[in-house]
Amino acid sequence: MGEFDLIRRFFAPLAERRGHPDLLLAIGDDCAIERITPDHDLVFSIDTQVEGVHFPHRYAPRRIAGRALAAATSDLAAMGATPVCFTLALTLPQAEPAWLSDFAKGLAETADRFGLALAGGDTTRGPLSITIQVHGTVARGRALRRSGATPGDIVAVSGTLGDAGAALDYLDVPSPDPLEDALLARYHSPVPRLELGQALAGVASSAIDISDGLASDLGHILEASGVGASVDTGRIPLSDALKQLKGANALQLALHAGDDYELCVTIPGQDWQNLPGFVREQLTAIGRIEEGAGLRLSGVNGCEDDSSRGYDHFGKDL
Ligand code: ADP
Ligand code: MG
Repeated sequence: MGEFDLIRRFFAPLAERRGHPDLLLAIGDDCAIERITPDHDLVFSIDTQVEGVHFPHRYAPRRIAGRALAAATSDLAAMGATPVCFTLALTLPQAEPAWLSDFAKGLAETADRFGLALAGGDTTRGPLSITIQVHGTVARGRALRRSGATPGDIVAVSGTLGDAGAALDYLDVPSPDPLEDALLARYHSPVPRLELGQALAGVASSAIDISDGLASDLGHILEASGVGASVDTGRIPLSDALKQLKGANALQLALHAGDDYELCVTIPGQDWQNLPGFVREQLTAIGRIEEGAGLRLSGVNGCEDDSSRGYDHFGKDL
């Protein structure tokens, strides 16, 4: 049973069984949405990072904190929300002051950068894992969802894809060269696209952050929206570092590797030309939403691939 089947079978029914008039959106998107005032909705999301699964053993505590908070905050970016605060559930094998001091430093730096205040948490002993719940707000009814993509919309992504996944090969390199460093920076310090998400709230017809790979995450938009898409793989933005270091494998990494925390959005065709300059600069159009279900990939090498595999905690490895 895959991660998403598990959620659908055992937990989605709980959300369907008992709603609440103020809970506007429950399981199935990057965040849930709760009405808090007549003008604003609260969006919130929780993410766990486990040692040996989401980050390597003996990974620097400053980086563990920074990555965990950035990954959680990326779900706020995907909803077009403004960060407010977060709670931290920390499970530690032992309380080591030097480790905790560096962890707290990384947390403080990252929280300041994203405008998030620490609101509380829970501390327990056990195998190292970090759970962070983030809260953000968005103007009433303007939160971006996975479910609004419509045939004819342009599919676009921010930044470049595949870099963080490629960096896994260089985590143990003692002195990485500048190209390897460029990929490693994407893995160590992901940057959630908060301003971009906020600028697209009320404009994009759907959005998701790419945490598990473009094919899988765009697949979630298609499923939630009841549509399909065609993507020209030749248009998927790849960094020079990725192309030079990974050559022919660069595209597979961009499609199927996770941890980039870029946004994938759909924009109605007539709105694409009118996007503000700073929004257009961050986006690359890679395809179109279509009626027929599924993701159709075509590309420069006549590459056809309709697979949507990405990272699944209970599915097959990449
Ligand atoms: P993301 O990658 O954006 O963090 P996930 O892939 O982790 O999202 O989760 C997909 C959806 O399933 C989300 O809406 C999330 O809230 C929900 N979900 C995941 N695990 C559980 C669970 N154990 N109970 C209830 N809902 C869950
Ligand atoms: Mg997400």
